[in-house]
Amino acid sequence: MAEQLHQIASIIAAAKNLVAFTGSGISAESGIPTFRDPGGLWDRYDPDKLGTEGVATLGKITDEGRAFFGEMVDTLERARPNPGHLALAELERMGILSSVITQNIDNLHWEAGNTTVIEVHGNLYRLRCLTCGRTFKLKKGEDLPAMVQRLAEVNEQDSLELAGLMPKCQCGGMTRFDVVHFGEPVQDFPQAEHAASSCDVMLAVGTSGVVTPAALLPGYAKGAGATVIEVNATGSYFSGMDDFAIVEKAGDALPRIVAAVRGILG
Ligand code: NAD
Repeated sequence: MAEQLHQIASIIAAAKNLVAFTGSGISAESGIPTFRDPGGLWDRYDPDKLGTEGVATLGKITDEGRAFFGEMVDTLERARPNPGHLALAELERMGILSSVITQNIDNLHWEAGNTTVIEVHGNLYRLRCLTCGRTFKLKKGEDLPAMVQRLAEVNEQDSLELAGLMPKCQCGGMTRFDVVHFGEPVQDFPQAEHAASSCDVMLAVGTSGVVTPAALLPGYAKGAGATVIEVNATGSYFSGMDDFAIVEKAGDALPRIVAAVRGILG
């Protein structure tokens, strides 16, 4: 293990262009259940229903939709970047990591301090105008809890109240959450594909690799000659594509890797 850690740290210390590819596992230690966690949000609410219709357009509101949205907001609002997120931000500050490609919508890579984050499934703390396409950020601790409150008070029979629930864009257009629902195209995939295909080392962290097209990215990196290092708490999901697999929690493994890289760079 110590030998593997040193080998991995040496590769990262020498990397010209390190890219991280993260999934819901990296945020598990921040208190956000992964997609497949028993007891997690998607274990108790039907992804096919709420992940496609959801409360995104607020075209219809059900008690289940209110409960789902309220719980999701509560979970995200409590979450703070954990040592795994912070380690990736530290690698960027050290001038080694060039970008994070994430499947997460929780905003935690930005909060940790990373400045180039490609969010292929969007971000719940961002709205998009349905008319002009402009996007704007929501304030953590304010905007989403206020929406949950308004959602609890709104009379779902009153179409004017329903229409007024989401903030309006400055162009007057209606907005929706800028997240990718099941069945919708992913966001910024050309940028993600470019980042994956041009890196020399990829750290794939906390993803089961079953959600496509994002799951193809480690393959693009490998195909372009990169070294792929996988970190996952429960096993290796990219076997055949990864050069190293660390079966450990991200919040434990990533800070140790960063400390070892520091040790090498001095
Ligand atoms: P997944 O649930 O399919 O896989 C998560 C992986 O993380 C699992 O393989 C698990 O073993 C691993 N894991 C769990 N805890 C870990 C830890 N502490 N350290 C390292 N690994 C850990 O998730 P996925 O591959 O990201 O795909 C699910 C989809 O659900 C994604 O597309 C994502 O958009 C969405 N999602 C996002 C969030 C979020 O924003 N935080 C949360 C849940 C689901």
